[in-house]
Amino acid sequence: MSSKKNILLLSLFICYFKLFAQDLSFAKGVCKMLCSDEFSGRGYVNSGDELAAQFIRTQMKEIGLKPLADNYFQKFGFEVVCYPERVQLKVDHYDLTPGKDFIINPGCPSINGSFNVIHIDSAMLDNNTQFNQLFGSKVRNCFLEVDQIKDLKLLHPERIDVILKNQVRAKGLLYAKKEKLTWGVAQHFADFPIISVLKNVIQEHPLLIELKVDAEYKLHQTQNVIGKITGKKYPDSVIVISAHYDHLGMMGNFTKFPGANDNASGVAMMLDLAKFFNKKGSDYTLIFIGFAAEEAGLLGSLYYTENPVVPLAQIKLLVNLDLMSTGDKGMMVVNGTEFPELFEQLKFQNSIGNYLPSIQARGKAANSDHYYFSEKGVQALFFYLMGEYHAYHDVEDDFEALTFSRYNESFQLVADFIAGF
Ligand SMILES: [Zn+2]
Repeated sequence: MSSKKNILLLSLFICYFKLFAQDLSFAKGVCKMLCSDEFSGRGYVNSGDELAAQFIRTQMKEIGLKPLADNYFQKFGFEVVCYPERVQLKVDHYDLTPGKDFIINPGCPSINGSFNVIHIDSAMLDNNTQFNQLFGSKVRNCFLEVDQIKDLKLLHPERIDVILKNQVRAKGLLYAKKEKLTWGVAQHFADFPIISVLKNVIQEHPLLIELKVDAEYKLHQTQNVIGKITGKKYPDSVIVISAHYDHLGMMGNFTKFPGANDNASGVAMMLDLAKFFNKKGSDYTLIFIGFAAEEAGLLGSLYYTENPVVPLAQIKLLVNLDLMSTGDKGMMVVNGTEFPELFEQLKFQNSIGNYLPSIQARGKAANSDHYYFSEKGVQALFFYLMGEYHAYHDVEDDFEALTFSRYNESFQLVADFIAGF
């Protein structure tokens, strides 16, 4: 057989191998499941995060990963504020849709009642008498409606600061916003309610709001989900592939934040990589971790770094996947500038495979679960894909919005990078 033929066969084999490396329908299935109503936005209402953890454990078992920690679960507790009951807002008697028309601040305390609204604008902040009147007792049962906060900050920095800190002790603040509404998770109660409302669903200067929020503060038990593939050559050296599975949960009993791109997509790719490497094998031991409570402040990864199941010194590389459903504009590597050799290797593999249009590097950032690992000396990179996808921490980040436009290419790039380490 001529060497030309050998090369041809080899490249055919590589094509075949690449073609069947990733499993897009599996990844889609995982995302669809994690975004479904059953998982309640994978937060702290209806045991959403617990059910998601059980689902991931089942997947890990079926794939053939070996359990670590306590039957794949590393348990820990943390405090969180959640909203199991319906959150309701009427503005001038008009019922608004939670999540879409308005959002409460993370940690918003319970409140129930009707409140007059006082409009705060530049003219009123300019007027000493009017401004001083805000400190009167009448204001205590009103909401202050603040419009165009940015402009007011420039014009009246000190006075707007008094308002935004609610030093006049109003019942709460109402922000009329043009831009999209985004939510978050809080571990503790905020000092007062802040309601953000889309400008185009209310009249210019609203007069009355009716608001009902039942907040619950609890010590919540959760778990990181951990499985492994033992390395053939270097069983004591570990590559971690991680993705957080939690999201924001529910704002009331019917408003779900599905967290499709953030981060069902990362979990799907992590499990797909587990499937792939379980068949293919690996020189290094591979540990797959679905982190809990990332949205509450990277709590799952923090807990792991303080209570490592496998010692941090054994971890030669960590690849964290978060926001993995696009890629048309390439991939960003957080910590890329901290670990330039790894970054160059990744770029090289991308150019060889002709996978993604660009690979870019950023410095340190505490924006996902890689952070506490690199702070403790582990070579940890965070990959996220870039492209046309505008939903983020909102009700629109749902399975139907995902395109998976560069799923195959990004999967192959990550797989090559891990296999080539
Ligand atoms: Zn995320």
